[in-house]
Amino acid sequence: MMKINDDCQLLKKLGIHSCDDVNRELYALLKNIRDIYCRTNTEQHIILISDAVEQHLGYNSDELTGLSLENLFAEPQDYRNFIEQLNEKGHLEQHQVKLKHQNGDNIWFAIHAGYRYDREGKKLGIETSCQNIDLQKEQQSMLDHLNRITEQTADIVVITDVHGIIEYVNPAFEKITGFSPAEVLGKNPNLFSSDQQSEEFYAHMWSTLLAGKVYRNNLINKRKDGSLYHAEITITPLIDDNADITHFIATARDISDHIRDKVRLKHIIHHDTLTDLPNRSLFLDRLQQAISKAHHHHRLVAVLFLDLDRFKNINDSLGHTAGDQLLQQLGERFRATIREGDTIARFGGDEFVILLDDFDSDSSLSLIAQKILNSLATPFEISGHEIFITASIGISICPHDGEDPETLLRNADIAMYRAKELGKNNFQYYSESMTARVFERMTLENNLRHALERNEFILHYQPQVDARSGKIFGVEALLRWRHPELGLVMPNNFISLLEETGLIEPVGIWVLETACRQSQQWHESGMGFVHMSVNLSSRQFNNSEFISSLQNIIEETGVNPEYLELELTESMLMRNTSSTIAALKSLNDLGVRFAIDDFGTGYSSLNYLRRFPIETIKIDRSFIRDITHDNDDRAICSAIIGMTRSLSLNVIAEGVETDGQLDFLKTKDCHYIQGNVFSPAIPAEAMTKMLADQLRN
Ligand code: C2E
Ligand code: MG
Ligand code: MG
Repeated sequence: MMKINDDCQLLKKLGIHSCDDVNRELYALLKNIRDIYCRTNTEQHIILISDAVEQHLGYNSDELTGLSLENLFAEPQDYRNFIEQLNEKGHLEQHQVKLKHQNGDNIWFAIHAGYRYDREGKKLGIETSCQNIDLQKEQQSMLDHLNRITEQTADIVVITDVHGIIEYVNPAFEKITGFSPAEVLGKNPNLFSSDQQSEEFYAHMWSTLLAGKVYRNNLINKRKDGSLYHAEITITPLIDDNADITHFIATARDISDHIRDKVRLKHIIHHDTLTDLPNRSLFLDRLQQAISKAHHHHRLVAVLFLDLDRFKNINDSLGHTAGDQLLQQLGERFRATIREGDTIARFGGDEFVILLDDFDSDSSLSLIAQKILNSLATPFEISGHEIFITASIGISICPHDGEDPETLLRNADIAMYRAKELGKNNFQYYSESMTARVFERMTLENNLRHALERNEFILHYQPQVDARSGKIFGVEALLRWRHPELGLVMPNNFISLLEETGLIEPVGIWVLETACRQSQQWHESGMGFVHMSVNLSSRQFNNSEFISSLQNIIEETGVNPEYLELELTESMLMRNTSSTIAALKSLNDLGVRFAIDDFGTGYSSLNYLRRFPIETIKIDRSFIRDITHDNDDRAICSAIIGMTRSLSLNVIAEGVETDGQLDFLKTKDCHYIQGNVFSPAIPAEAMTKMLADQLRN
């Protein structure tokens, strides 16, 4: 700022005629005030400007003196407005305008301005004081900005005082909750709290907030219409300079959709889509929980592994849609059969698993298992078809049969297989010996695959004898497996495996070839024609190449086909009747004969006996076993024998072990016998010797 004495000259130059006009005190004051004080002459040229201008606008006060006031304004238009309004009103207060900083920045000022007059009332110029409000402006615009954000944000914003009384709600609040601001301002937020949260929940919330900490959680709130919604909330205490809480700012988001999606997703992840029953993962979870709980309370947990019997037949014959429908109906039926607290899960395919953790004893468990089997007694109706289905159930109990989900499931599964082996449609409790069997089965399966190439199969022969003469008229070739470690393995242990794995076809061909070659060898060594019976599996029989394979074998070995008898089972004949007849006829044309093995155990439809070119019936061993004392078995055997006679068929009694059985059969005129009473199945050399001995006698 100019020095008073030095500048009297300058003031005069500027039209200020008396230095006295400038009050010394004013100078002193001007030096210290923060605002810019400025005076102009009548041409609006600056004649006096306080030092503060340097601090606010970067100019030295001297360099501005003499310049037009307009130079301070950011825009010429702003300056014109300023003058216009000043002229209009005579003075201005808080006129907000941007002034120009020396560095080019524009800075907000609030200007107080008026005209200065001399004693005669003549205008001397403008007098202004300019207050820098740039910071304020910035804060204001920030506040405006913040305000717009809270007003426009999609989330709820609620501001309460320290006592929780609502002071502000944003528009999203009304949109989401249905409450208008007028309805909630001045009130407590418990207006929209539901009773879904416990008192402890709120106590924890308040203790967090009153400790000055941010509180975050999900809770369920109530809308004005009473409906509930899930909210994700954050409450922030607002703390002033004295470290006192003055307000709480709550933001909340309606996450109901998200929760619903999550719940649905969780459901999908844990349930089987077809039946909506729990799936394996949920089942394992619940089983684990049940095991821990049971351990604690010394209770039992049972796992019932259920597999439908012959479900594949339904899929194969009626199609997968029907199969799916059946599974759905089964799911419903099972659900209705078990109690509410029990879990039934579908593991995929036709496997269902049930978890029971509230039963008193094994006997009540048996009742439940039986109830489940019984629930299948009523047929299912699928697209107009009545479908009967049964199931096999394996049961394992914790802790006896395992103390972890995996072991329990595995053992229930093993027991289920045992139930299948025992004829299906029943339930079995797991026992340790079953695992041994499964293990055996597994090693068997692996070894079986190599058995043929390693020449481990051999045939034993069991004589078929005419009881009247005691003469051997034929033999049945019976397969054995000379296992390197297990020794001689009987066919009942591996035939079904051969069938399942398809190995039965090459093995079956080997059996035929070996048996035919043996038969021809005996013939060539002068033992006459020995009837050779060979067992066929259905899989072999249904193979279209079987006939030509057999033809080749007959040609290659040179055997007389009339002495070859193929043993079929009743069930093989029942399936696929017309193609079966054709196959049998063309084989019959080759000269081959047929026998029905295990007669009486299958469908026992007598019809096919006339329709198929059958020569021999073999009465199943099970009817012979008790023939000496069981009247039913006696009656059945007599009936079979009588029937074969009237149809002019041969009949062979299988598995005759005792003289008593033999005597009874003789009285019924059944003279063809196969059984241990004469000889069990024996190796080829032994059989050769037996035939040779017979020849000699
Ligand atoms: P299967 O055809 O009914 O054969 C008769 C079975 O009864 C044989 O059992 C025989 O050893 C046994 N057996 C004979 N007499 C007596 C007796 O007095 N008492 C007792 N307890 N058993 C007697 P094996 O050799 O164990 O054969 C079992 C089944 O395996 C056979 O029953 C047959 O269905 C099947 N099988 C055997 N070899 C073959 C084969 O090469 N191919 C096919 N597909 N199946 C075969
Ligand atoms: Mg047989
Ligand atoms: Mg048999």
